[in-house]
Amino acid sequence: MSFIKVVDLVRQYQMGESVVTANDRLNFDIEEGEFVVILGPSGAGKSTLLNLLGGMDKATSGSIFVQGEDICRYNDLELTRYRRDKIGFVFQFYNLIPNLTALENVELAIQIVEDSRDPKKVLDQVGLSHRLNNFPSQLSGGEQQRVAIARALAKNPALLLCDEPTGALDYHTGKNILKLLQETCRREKTTVIVITHNSALAP
Ligand code: ADP
Ligand code: ADP
Repeated sequence: MSFIKVVDLVRQYQMGESVVTANDRLNFDIEEGEFVVILGPSGAGKSTLLNLLGGMDKATSGSIFVQGEDICRYNDLELTRYRRDKIGFVFQFYNLIPNLTALENVELAIQIVEDSRDPKKVLDQVGLSHRLNNFPSQLSGGEQQRVAIARALAKNPALLLCDEPTGALDYHTGKNILKLLQETCRREKTTVIVITHNSALAP
């Protein structure tokens, strides 16, 4: 059984009289522990797909089986649990809370999570043990993204979803962030999905 099995997935948006089809009958499988990069130009439907996989949006039709369960059949409560227990999310613009330190940002994220990891250990793993008490404004873009990755990993997610995680970073810093995500995938056996429009950064 695949970790993720997507079957005939469709997501359409109603725009007044017309219909925009963001995802048109997608079919693919992802194995547990895989590192997957989804590459495509702006408007291709990548963010829509990632939001569907993360239980943040609802499909128009089709199925997304995650460990055998179709999350497209989930009600809102089940989706909330799914997002909380299974999913880590990394965004292009980090989305850290500005008046909390690096450590506090990670601690806050795991407050309601049962099977969480030690925030200090996770920050150490992303190379930030010397930045625990710094605020986001005191960190470089690459460091802020490392905090965001630590925050996602502290939840011990089965699936790490990354939406243009290098999009706000220079080439070299972006490469290092991708390397960190790949190392994490290998070491923790976390399934990682990265979307990007930048083919130069595809590993
Ligand atoms: P990408 O992430 O690859 O840039 P998106 O998933 O953001 O692509 O968008 C795919 C298509 O769906 C685009 O044509 C976009 O305009 C449309 N779309 C995305 N979100 C919405 C929305 N909330 N309402 C209407 N159309 C949308
Ligand atoms: P894209 O480049 O994929 O078209 P954006 O760069 O606008 O989209 O945002 C990247 C992702 O981060 C999107 O999935 C969006 O939903 C999410 N995002 C952006 N800003 C916020 C925010 N303030 N809070 C939560 N999520 C956000």
